[in-house]
Amino acid sequence: MIAKIKQLLAEVEAMKANNAEELEALRIKYLSKKGAINDLMADFRNVAAEQKREVGMMLNELKTKAQERINALKDEFDSKDNGSCDLDLTRTAYPVKLGTRHPLSIVKNEIIDIFGRLGFSIAEGPEIEDDWHVFSALNFAEDHPARDMQDTFFIEAHPDIVLRTHTSSVQSRVMEVSQPPIRIICPGRVYRNEAISYRAHAFFHQVEALYVDKNVSFTDLKQVLLLFAKEMFGADTKIRLRPSYFPFTEPSAEMDISCNICGGKGCPFCKGTGWVEILGCGMVDPNVLESNGIDSKTYTGYALGMGVERITNLKYRVNDLRLFSENDIRFLKEFEAAY
Ligand SMILES: [Zn+2]
Repeated sequence: MIAKIKQLLAEVEAMKANNAEELEALRIKYLSKKGAINDLMADFRNVAAEQKREVGMMLNELKTKAQERINALKDEFDSKDNGSCDLDLTRTAYPVKLGTRHPLSIVKNEIIDIFGRLGFSIAEGPEIEDDWHVFSALNFAEDHPARDMQDTFFIEAHPDIVLRTHTSSVQSRVMEVSQPPIRIICPGRVYRNEAISYRAHAFFHQVEALYVDKNVSFTDLKQVLLLFAKEMFGADTKIRLRPSYFPFTEPSAEMDISCNICGGKGCPFCKGTGWVEILGCGMVDPNVLESNGIDSKTYTGYALGMGVERITNLKYRVNDLRLFSENDIRFLKEFEAAY
């Protein structure tokens, strides 16, 4: 009996298995009800009384060792991840939550879509720009306040390099390398040196449009603006233009639309006026055309630009600009239906 136990102990210590099936075979051979160790247990009653204590201890040791060895081999398989037999192909998959488009992307894409149907193609440019493309080429005077450190982020070591303050820099980049007809739309992120609050942010998004060709007139601009407003805010939307000033357009105007919340009757949102401002526009200043290598005697053009946050606010009443960049999933989930 003792010899048999010793032999099994040696076998158990040398146990090896190459896969789960082999391991299971070992478990059956030694540890199952009809296994070798149980057979010995059954024989235990035949052991002479004076040997019972010693044999009993050896038997217990054998059983423990066998169980430990099997467990150790099993751990090896599990850690190797060898196509574990725990894999249950019939189990229902975990739900995969699809993300939603960001509200600014939804609105930006809608603007691009409207202008795309009018023949405008997308142009993009760098967010880190040089002074020429952001200011000089666009007719900003040397002492224009936008060039002030308080309004614009300059790179300290290179005062000529700025974070673009408007996407108009893309207009000059396109004009300097191409000749009319030019019909582009420039969506992108822009930066201003502003303290962050519910109504101002250090970065926001713009979409600008530029059309340069022979005989482009203010009438063309107005027609495009009206069409855009109706497509974006509904067929009943009215527009009005107020004279304004921008360095790169002459004449310049700001456009209001009839308040889409009260329908023009007057409400707190439009401060009782029935109108809300949505964009700036104008005829491209001849100086800008000339600075960018386009003959201002042959060609004219119009430009318009709007803040994507502003349009999104009007469409979805997002009153705090900070929500757009906080990535709060509760806020973003509200736009699931819009996408
Ligand atoms: Zn209103």
